[in-house]
Amino acid sequence: MTRPPDQSSPCLRHGCDACCQATRMSLTKADVCRLERAGHRDFCDLGVDGALRLRNVDGRCVFLAGGRCAAYAERPDGCVLYPLIWFTADGEPGEAGLHEFCPHRHEFRFSQGDREWLARSIAVEDIEVAARRGASAWPAGEAAVNPARDERTTQHDG
Ligand code: SF4
Ligand code: SF4
Repeated sequence: MTRPPDQSSPCLRHGCDACCQATRMSLTKADVCRLERAGHRDFCDLGVDGALRLRNVDGRCVFLAGGRCAAYAERPDGCVLYPLIWFTADGEPGEAGLHEFCPHRHEFRFSQGDREWLARSIAVEDIEVAARRGASAWPAGEAAVNPARDERTTQHDG
């Protein structure tokens, strides 16, 4: 079933697509499978750090077309939840919070369930990235932590 874009979302109300420009959004394998089942191909790249991320074409997400997401119903969990992102500090377990990059972040309402969803998604990414790094000739001694975790917190340089 295809869900129509939520017309009440701050993104549509403000005509904003800022977070879809030069995206560094990371994906889980479940995100990739969902997008592929919907017929999408060639939409992500594997970084040297072991993270899968949405591909950019001409400086914007491959799915951004005419100011809209062409994969809205199947978009990655990280996109569904943005601007809720995962903040981490050395040695701390991390927590969900709003990303300052989004100019309309205070108009979003996130539930405890959303925060738990984000935490699970990040935990899954940690495991998947660690597996990729462990399965390849990664530099010996490098910690198998998920770089995408911090990439999500710094999805954009802004
Ligand atoms: S930056 Fe914020 S308001 Fe703009 S498209 Fe992204 S989530 Fe929506
Ligand atoms: S998948 Fe859609 S919502 Fe996510 S960055 Fe790309 S265009 Fe934006």
